[in-house]
Amino acid sequence: MKNSQYIKAVEQLNQEYINYTHSQVYLKNNRKRKLKRYLRNFAFKRLYFAFKASLYNKFNKKINKNSYILNNNINIKKGKKVVYTCIMNKYDTLRSPVLRTSDTDYIVFSDDQNVVKETNFWKYIEISEEIKKKCNYNPALINRYIKMHPRELFPNYDLALYVDGNVRVISDVEDCFGYINDKTGLAMHEHAKRKDVYEEAKACIKLSKGNKKNIKKLIQKYEKERFPHNFGLYQASVIAVDLKNKNAQKIMSDWYQGFIQEKTGRDQLILPYILWKNNFAFQDVGFLGSNLYNNPKFRVYDHNFKHNHFFMNLVNIKRKIWNFGLQYKCNICHSHLKKWRAGGRNHQIFIDNKIVGAGYRKNFQCPVCGAKDKDRLVYYYLENYTDVFQRANKILHFAPEKIIYQKFKRKCHNYKAIQYYTGDLNSDRADMIVDITDINFPKNTFDYIICNHVLEHVMEEKKAFAELKRVIKPTGKIILTVPVCVSNAKTIEDNSITDPRERMNLFCQEDHVRLYGRDTKKRIEKYGLIVEEFKVKNKDIEEKYGLLEDGIIYIISKGKEDKNEKAV
Ligand SMILES: [Zn+2]
Repeated sequence: MKNSQYIKAVEQLNQEYINYTHSQVYLKNNRKRKLKRYLRNFAFKRLYFAFKASLYNKFNKKINKNSYILNNNINIKKGKKVVYTCIMNKYDTLRSPVLRTSDTDYIVFSDDQNVVKETNFWKYIEISEEIKKKCNYNPALINRYIKMHPRELFPNYDLALYVDGNVRVISDVEDCFGYINDKTGLAMHEHAKRKDVYEEAKACIKLSKGNKKNIKKLIQKYEKERFPHNFGLYQASVIAVDLKNKNAQKIMSDWYQGFIQEKTGRDQLILPYILWKNNFAFQDVGFLGSNLYNNPKFRVYDHNFKHNHFFMNLVNIKRKIWNFGLQYKCNICHSHLKKWRAGGRNHQIFIDNKIVGAGYRKNFQCPVCGAKDKDRLVYYYLENYTDVFQRANKILHFAPEKIIYQKFKRKCHNYKAIQYYTGDLNSDRADMIVDITDINFPKNTFDYIICNHVLEHVMEEKKAFAELKRVIKPTGKIILTVPVCVSNAKTIEDNSITDPRERMNLFCQEDHVRLYGRDTKKRIEKYGLIVEEFKVKNKDIEEKYGLLEDGIIYIISKGKEDKNEKAV
């Protein structure tokens, strides 16, 4: 399918996204967010690089170019096409293109099969032992080998587009091949910030990128050989290659040899010199644009980073020792504790009424892992009264609590048959955007749906339950909790109230739309569902694990769907 209007719309949306993420407000907040994330994960190396980069950017503000495409006369190339990338060591997260170019294959080379787990666009190819051996099992070398040997890797193709692992293809990429210059058989972006390898070398040294000593040596060599200044610099993150072009093959293999020889760790420093050596001018490489970061066909993400396990464990051990006691135990992180961390909101409404699952509680949080009493109650139920972790279940978790989410992810890692989906109205906390009143899954999909403290926010309760009923399997269970005011016989609800303060006084939180009472079970049954109430009967267990006091979990199922079928 090729629909130019559709392509245009996707690229326009992406351009808006790019403009937004380049705005000052966004950048400022993003810097803060990143800093916090690095600190929390003890990623000191990342922190150091970020600090250097921000310092460098402060004094080097210029970005030469904002437009991304100059010429319009592209000659569409025909032939078999492939888009390829290489991800080693979980350095990047592979992302699906939004719009797939028809008759183009998407291939990822990686050392980890799970790289394609979250996407169904890319075809995974394991890196052969031969290549690994050639590259001395060095991930950076393997990556460059793949990048610079498309002709050897794709003998049955005519055109190839290489993208770095952190570059997401958003839209149709067929145009990219049209920009290929037949002299070199290549097309690339110009570097957005720097004009030649000399400037780039300086920046690399300042930003601690690559091998400082070898970069200096390389520059000395360039000066000696009179490699001209202002030759031009390419951004080598996206490369369109004509695989039938002999020059392209020569350039790329020379580039790889140069990269190995010079040991700078920066391939962008090598390519312009190789072109010059082969008597090509900068313009002999086709022009994809002057700023990759502004090209609406792509999106550039940050590389992944790993948290510092050593420090993380150290902090955890310190917390465990500090809080050690025999009185309590956290059922999620298994720490033995002398006391819980108190917390929760203190407000007149919680003093006047007993609301289970809200207000100030002494056993609010685990001081080691941060699990809340209501999380521990739900987890206690899941672990002891369900087979959710033992079978190949399909699970949907709404607005996942961080600590339960992490537990599930770990369990899924150990037992791959579990399919765990998380959804929320904004995707910050979940993997997908899912609206509980319009769930984008077919009927009878899930074995379990977990939905804690969500429905008190949902205006259209009836619609939500109808949707839950639709997507749960007849044998499945919905595990649901809401804050319940046990001093009220009836649920209080008034859709006309929208003032946050009024909502606080009536429904116990500014963004709640009702306050559930003792009639909750009956209320749900009215929607044609079977409801059981689960309570921890053993007070010793409730006390020991600090589970939410008098907490209620509603276990909901739909039973046999078709009553007529039962009669037959
Ligand atoms: Zn804990």
